[in-house]
Amino acid sequence: MPLDAALAARIVQAVDAGFERQMDLTADLVRFATTRGREHACQDYVLAAMQQRGWATERFAMDSAAIARHPGGSPVTADHSDAPIVVGIHRPREETGRSLILQSHVDVVPAGPRELWSRDPFEPHRDGDWFYGRGGADMKAGHAAMFAVFDALAAIGLQPAATLTVQSVVEEESTGNGALQCHLRGYRAEAVLIPEPEDEKLIRANTGVVWFRVEVAGLPVHVSQAGTGQNAIEATQGVIRALRELEARWNAKRADFRHFEDIDHPINLNIGMIEGGDWASSVPAWCAIDCRIAIYPGERPETMQRAIEEAVTLAARADRFLANNPPRVTFTGFTTEGYALEPGSEAEAVLARAHETATGEPLQDLVTPGYLDTRVYALYDRIPALCYGPISENIHGFDERFSMASMRRVTRTMALFVAEWCGVEPIRP
Ligand code: ZN
Repeated sequence: MPLDAALAARIVQAVDAGFERQMDLTADLVRFATTRGREHACQDYVLAAMQQRGWATERFAMDSAAIARHPGGSPVTADHSDAPIVVGIHRPREETGRSLILQSHVDVVPAGPRELWSRDPFEPHRDGDWFYGRGGADMKAGHAAMFAVFDALAAIGLQPAATLTVQSVVEEESTGNGALQCHLRGYRAEAVLIPEPEDEKLIRANTGVVWFRVEVAGLPVHVSQAGTGQNAIEATQGVIRALRELEARWNAKRADFRHFEDIDHPINLNIGMIEGGDWASSVPAWCAIDCRIAIYPGERPETMQRAIEEAVTLAARADRFLANNPPRVTFTGFTTEGYALEPGSEAEAVLARAHETATGEPLQDLVTPGYLDTRVYALYDRIPALCYGPISENIHGFDERFSMASMRRVTRTMALFVAEWCGVEPIRP
């Protein structure tokens, strides 16, 4: 049943009144430089914020054996974060509404060279409507909003009338194992909302992602005899060309995949890192590239991994030296499927109503060519998995920022969504 208009207005007011406090919490989260494997202190801070609100909490590590057995698990390599996952559980006095999971990740991608940022990436900065900082948009703004929703309801004496689980995960930017671990731990609900920065739109479908590393061997000699050696760095260029051709072939078949027919370039290959060689005057004996490519929903990562291996093998066969010294392909991170949100769910209808009340505009949907943790809930829990969040710019780039006006609208939407989906009850009888 749609929310009573007077109640909706009080909730919106309470969100607005708490917005400065919400931005302070966001700034606190951004100050933790939570690149991969460095999320521990931030997770402690989040755990304390959950305890302050009187939620039951749990803190646990990844179970790499269980992750390895699950079809949605990505490899746990030496780079994998060992930071804990923390979960806060609000239980109502009386369970009358529908249960919900709210989830955000605290891990952020590296800031890159400091001189390409206007200011320190981990010292949050506000300028007009923009809030700057690495991980502010992706997705500490959404993270703080999960708390702001409760705080807004509490400010008017209310709380959700259903079990609401707040999950703070890591490894979203590299494997998706944090969200999967929550699933493996047994957390369930009737819907999930993940407030990633998606321009106030609802994600209709998104791709899966595969990470891989290609190691190319060379033959080291002194440069004066370069003709007799084999330059691994130059040979890698042939491998990259073959991977680009694979990317073009995968993009060419987009008409076969629902929701992706009209996306300009759904499959993006990224050659993200390169290393190789030991000495300026030695022909390099080794070169390695770390890459990311997308796959369509419905495609299995394992099948696509074989296609990647095959493309590299074929490229190597065309090269006299590499034919006898084939490059090695390993899978180092994301091994995840894409998903689509089936239209017509009650959860989507509630979110659409909340969005319209909060913003005055109808909710639009969006198809994205990247990874999202919502896939765990769509694929393995088979519940409505809603990904929806604020307007942002330059996520994963320099001067990452989100719009505070947008974040305020999104928080209103989230609070109205929680109030209608979970129902509300007075904090004290
Ligand atoms: Zn994110």
